[in-house]
Amino acid sequence: MSSLHPDTRAVHLPQPPLNGSTPIAVPLYQTSGFVFDDPAVFADGMGRPDGAFVYGRLSNPTVRALEEAVADLEGGVAAVAAGSGMGAINSVLFGLLQPGDHLIAQRPLYGGTAASIADLGARFGVSVTYVDQDDPVAAREALRPETKLLYLETIANPMTQVADLPGMCAVAREAGVVAVVDNTFASPILCRPLEHGADIVVHSTTKYLSGHSDVLGGIAVFADDALYRRLWAYSTKLGATLDPFAAWLTLRGMQTLPLRMARHCENTRILATRLAEHPAVDAVHWPGMPGHPSYELAAKLLPDFGGVFSFDLTGGRASGERFMSSVRLALLAPSLGGVETLILHPATTSHRSLTAAELESSGIGEGTVRVAVGIEHPEDLWADFVQALEH
Ligand SMILES: *Cc1c(COP(=O)(O)O)cnc(C)c1O
Repeated sequence: MSSLHPDTRAVHLPQPPLNGSTPIAVPLYQTSGFVFDDPAVFADGMGRPDGAFVYGRLSNPTVRALEEAVADLEGGVAAVAAGSGMGAINSVLFGLLQPGDHLIAQRPLYGGTAASIADLGARFGVSVTYVDQDDPVAAREALRPETKLLYLETIANPMTQVADLPGMCAVAREAGVVAVVDNTFASPILCRPLEHGADIVVHSTTKYLSGHSDVLGGIAVFADDALYRRLWAYSTKLGATLDPFAAWLTLRGMQTLPLRMARHCENTRILATRLAEHPAVDAVHWPGMPGHPSYELAAKLLPDFGGVFSFDLTGGRASGERFMSSVRLALLAPSLGGVETLILHPATTSHRSLTAAELESSGIGEGTVRVAVGIEHPEDLWADFVQALEH
């Protein structure tokens, strides 16, 4: 190399040698592409997900490590990561549906997903029938010859209804319809929808999987290799790719996912049961509480009930606003699944695009507060909630 000019030597950096050892942590391959000795290996890697790594939009070793880790936790054959949860969800919806197709989706549904389904209808004539998340009879009645996809969420936002995954996925299976489940709220620690008959699981890895409120990402996990290859081809064409550094942060967060989920669930149980007894609180919505419409289904399906709950204040909207401006430890912020406790007012933030009638039919009141419980000490959280309720 020393015969070359400094300009050239500065460009062509040496690779660090691995002299008989390998790194403990998954290395961050922050590179847009890969170098080949063999042009045939280069060409082969362009057309399939399991050839040589070629170009970052198609595949990357750090991103692949994340895909394999999540596929393993979910019990799938493979996964495709994306730059956000919506990137993964849209890759699946737009990759599988064609003009004239029909899908069945649950209501309630994450707002971004509902907006994409509306877009599919307006631009491509893909029609949708909405059914309750726990009504296989309604799902069966909604089937048409052109039905291609059933879309569910394990635990819905913000009232935490639980989907009847075995019942609903059985309807899809009998009809040859692809069942897609957004498992963001449960995480693979509480639920593995492929075990209940789903074909594809999607996540916003922005939430529990990464767990530290510092990175966006999404992933789709597949039960079937052919479906995986088809969606890999579509997603890489669309360019929904995850950046290697985002994959690296997500992998780092995922190593503590089981520990964090246990604490999220335990803290939520403490806050939810105590709030239910508080005179300023009308109702608490968490599937782990007797009286929640999904309580029995949740007890059959889930070992624990997640770290998100909502509650209604007796004083309605004014009380909700006072509560939210009075908390000191809990942070007023969107999103969920991070180590910090976050609260928001669905009627004016996450669900503001719903009409008054839609809010009412979703059970979201003017005084409903959603809490994404973090992993702080539960007594500190409770003390914060009590002082805020006193305002
Ligand atoms: C946040 C979220 C999404 C969207 O994920 P992004 O990473 O924000 O794109 C989809 N589904 C659910 C249930 C979510 O909570």
